[in-house]
Amino acid sequence: MIRSTKASLKFSNINKLDSLHSFIAEYKKVVSTFVEMLWNEKKISPLIPKEFTSKINSWISQRAIQCAAKQASGIVRGTKLKQERRLFQIKKLQSEGKNPSKLQKIYNNVQTTKPFVENIEAELDSRFVKIQMENDTTFDGWVTLASLGNKIKLQIPFKKHKHFNKLLSNGKMKSGIRISKTMITFMFDIEVKPKTKGSTIGIDVGLKSTISSSNGQVIQKDTHGHDYMSICKKLSKKKKGSKGFRKVSSHRTNYINWTVNQLNLNDVKEVNREDIKNLRKGKRQSGLMSRWNYGELFDVLDKKLEDKGVRVNKLNPTYTSQRCSQCGWVRKGNRKLKLFMCDKCCYQQDSDLNASINLSLKLKPIGFQQRLKQENKTGFYWNCDDQVLIVPECPTKTNNLTL
Ligand SMILES: [Zn+2]
Repeated sequence: MIRSTKASLKFSNINKLDSLHSFIAEYKKVVSTFVEMLWNEKKISPLIPKEFTSKINSWISQRAIQCAAKQASGIVRGTKLKQERRLFQIKKLQSEGKNPSKLQKIYNNVQTTKPFVENIEAELDSRFVKIQMENDTTFDGWVTLASLGNKIKLQIPFKKHKHFNKLLSNGKMKSGIRISKTMITFMFDIEVKPKTKGSTIGIDVGLKSTISSSNGQVIQKDTHGHDYMSICKKLSKKKKGSKGFRKVSSHRTNYINWTVNQLNLNDVKEVNREDIKNLRKGKRQSGLMSRWNYGELFDVLDKKLEDKGVRVNKLNPTYTSQRCSQCGWVRKGNRKLKLFMCDKCCYQQDSDLNASINLSLKLKPIGFQQRLKQENKTGFYWNCDDQVLIVPECPTKTNNLTL
């Protein structure tokens, strides 16, 4: 897998930075021209033919123009793929009699404005870049950039940091870099062997307990008393794109990173989690979360699991929050917000913990046809072969009988 880390360009002198900035500005212009050209093409190959590249009038080198074409092609293909998925979802929702106006708006907007390239970094491969680590200077390394055009040759010093060293000791540095006006991004090829020993756990995500695992780990508030819900609440009050919005967003990112880092995976080789494509209804419909889904949390979680060699299984979570993890009885009324209470065996448990235990089990998948029957309204047993079921006596029911 590829992991990246950034290093600051602040140790460069002003003249060098000026040349670099003019190159990056011109490079972005070229990428944006390619994006315009390619946007209406039906088929786009990763390598852009001469009929396109020859149309570019720019002072950056022919090689850099090819590089920009390749990057533009990737951006356009990526955006088109996303648009196709949106269109598919729109049609699906319409066929179900729904009106996906928000999604339609996003789709139309992207279709007319085309991909935005202002925030991209220039992706430069080994033909432009030389990275030197051993040297006699006070810096940890130098990046030499050449073949950019206008006879620009730049030597940029950088300093290593903790994350850089960690990646360097665990993997092999790639010969290319990404570069912006202020940062160089280095990439590393890291090989992780999948774990063969350990248990399979289920992980459930939620607003109050951000992460609950079937082996009893519950991660809620950080040391400042923030939880996922309080941060999302704050975020929902900020205007998108405002300074306050960015501040709370980065707070949320930090919180997510902190949360995932709390998770102990020492004796775990496999994690079952819900598939984000079909997040449970209650989660999706909550007003707070309509804009703030769990995408970022799952991304950070998956990355950590991958780093540790832990396998991830994405499961359809239907009924995992309504099933009693003790006796297997599924009924809609079983879950009462934060408390799960089984109306068959009276088992009580924190809702998220109960769901995470269900996710950890090898339950027989429930098909679409069966779900249509909505048996969860009246209740049904949902079990698996390797779970020994404990059906405790239900104290309230016994009481009722004696009355
Ligand atoms: Zn039960």
